[in-house]
Amino acid sequence: MSSKQAIKRVVVLGSTGSIGTQTLDVAHQHADRLQIVGLAAGTRAAELLEQARRFDVHHLAVGVPEVLDQDMTQAFTEQAKAAYFLPNAPEGSYQPQAGQGSFGVGPDEVVNLCHLPEADIVVNALVGAQGLRASYETLKAGKVLALANKESLVVGGDLIMPLATHDTLLPIDSEHGAIYQCLLGENAKEVTKLWVTASGGPFRGKMRKDLETVTPAQALAHPTWNMGKKISIDSSTLMNKGLEVIEAHHLFAMDYDRIEVVVQPQSAIHSMVEFSDGSVKAHLGTTDMRIPIQFALSYPERWSAPVEPLDFRQLGTLEFAAPDTDTFKCLALARRAGSVGGTLPCVMNAANEIAVAAFLDNACSYLGIADVVEAVMDAHTPQVVESIEQLSELDQWARDYACTYLAKNY
Ligand code: MG
Repeated sequence: MSSKQAIKRVVVLGSTGSIGTQTLDVAHQHADRLQIVGLAAGTRAAELLEQARRFDVHHLAVGVPEVLDQDMTQAFTEQAKAAYFLPNAPEGSYQPQAGQGSFGVGPDEVVNLCHLPEADIVVNALVGAQGLRASYETLKAGKVLALANKESLVVGGDLIMPLATHDTLLPIDSEHGAIYQCLLGENAKEVTKLWVTASGGPFRGKMRKDLETVTPAQALAHPTWNMGKKISIDSSTLMNKGLEVIEAHHLFAMDYDRIEVVVQPQSAIHSMVEFSDGSVKAHLGTTDMRIPIQFALSYPERWSAPVEPLDFRQLGTLEFAAPDTDTFKCLALARRAGSVGGTLPCVMNAANEIAVAAFLDNACSYLGIADVVEAVMDAHTPQVVESIEQLSELDQWARDYACTYLAKNY
């Protein structure tokens, strides 16, 4: 059996970002198990092309057309057309004929990679609400969705979850990957609480007055996790934890009053599940996203560790604290959005994306991020979620409203 183990064929959306590059590292370490068959990136075309050559990938997409000049377009087209050559490819693995590659430009072409006939798994590591359609189409196409784009569930959980099963939606978010593993072999009816852990971010212990003059560089310096810009800012405001509470609600069909956030500054505990008999299962490990990425790709198997396992003698202490939602208002706002449900999380998320981008652009103060989110939420009358189109229209409305609010107030 071992010499003919099945190869999983993987599409990576957002391949030049933090999760994308770590996914490719896992694929490199397990080249006998994983084959990359499609790659998409937003703007970093040169890096994407380099990845395509390194992993011999012939289905490629660039999300933002403006970053491509004629030479680059030519290079991508040649890569897409190049003959496949897979040294040491195990028998039965994917070896299509030359000329079967593809190269697409624009957001629709990124989503189209979800439909690649030769793909088994799509890693959705796109940033923000733009990831929703890719998640939806992946599950529609009957493929496994390895989900790092939590906004997919925050915005469209009501549309995504009916398409998903336990084996077709694998969370890459470390907290949700942890909960997923704690729940293996358990009866969902016996779960009483999910404990979602939070590092607390770079401003843990600060008060509102301490945060008035925070700069993007300060907010981007996360103490334990190495991540992209959007999620690093979200982690510092605790919006990321708020999004994760909504994500957990959808993924594990859990009421909001049974999802608790606890600050665990060492980030060694990735989350916990409490059961009716008072037992608690926790997932611990090295603070490195390659572990949850690999689990989502290897499931239901476990493969050799992609990074050094945690040495508890080095770890020393584990601390716990309640989150400070007076200082970090975004967590409370996200909880409110989730509890009300319907289209409110979609609107909240869009407002947050605009506010974070404005903050990174020095066009919004740090504390202003929560103000923008709250103003847009207050201006919206929530509706029942009906379609991707409806969500997409409301997403745009919320972005416009947030921009107008920012123009007036900053
Ligand atoms: Mg997380």
